[in-house]
Amino acid sequence: MKKDDCIFCKLANGNIPTNTIYEDDDFRVFLDASPATAGHCLIVPKEHFDDLEDLDEAIAAKTLPLAKKIMLQLKEKLNWDGFNLVQNNREVAGQTVFHFHMHLIPRYKDDGQKIVWKPGSPDEGELEALLKKIV
Ligand code: AMP
Ligand code: ZN
Repeated sequence: MKKDDCIFCKLANGNIPTNTIYEDDDFRVFLDASPATAGHCLIVPKEHFDDLEDLDEAIAAKTLPLAKKIMLQLKEKLNWDGFNLVQNNREVAGQTVFHFHMHLIPRYKDDGQKIVWKPGSPDEGELEALLKKIV
């Protein structure tokens, strides 16, 4: 399904032009308009899913192989030194466009970017209690 008021539905389906580097029946991959680095692009399914929780299983299964394919294409063409995959879900996690997408971010020595979190320092008891909650 497409969502009428969703910008990524329009971009993914070609209703609004994009700088497309790859397209198939399920996905469009296009350059991010505000890139972290040269080659920063987005894998966007043509159908609307709000986020990973909402994502169709078959589309989910195709996403990582596609990420690898594009990553290797960018390696050949842009000769990156490293690579980040970033995928934000919900506003608190930094999602700003609520149509599932995956960021592919080539990294270059001294590119000045940081994709970071503040490391915590839980003791063993806290980790054990947490593990009991999860499994
Ligand atoms: P997120 O914060 O994970 O939801 O990422 C949304 C991304 O979409 C941001 O990196 C934006 O720069 C990018 N973006 C938003 N609108 C457009 C657009 N029209 N074309 C290309 N990229 C876009
Ligand atoms: Zn959408």
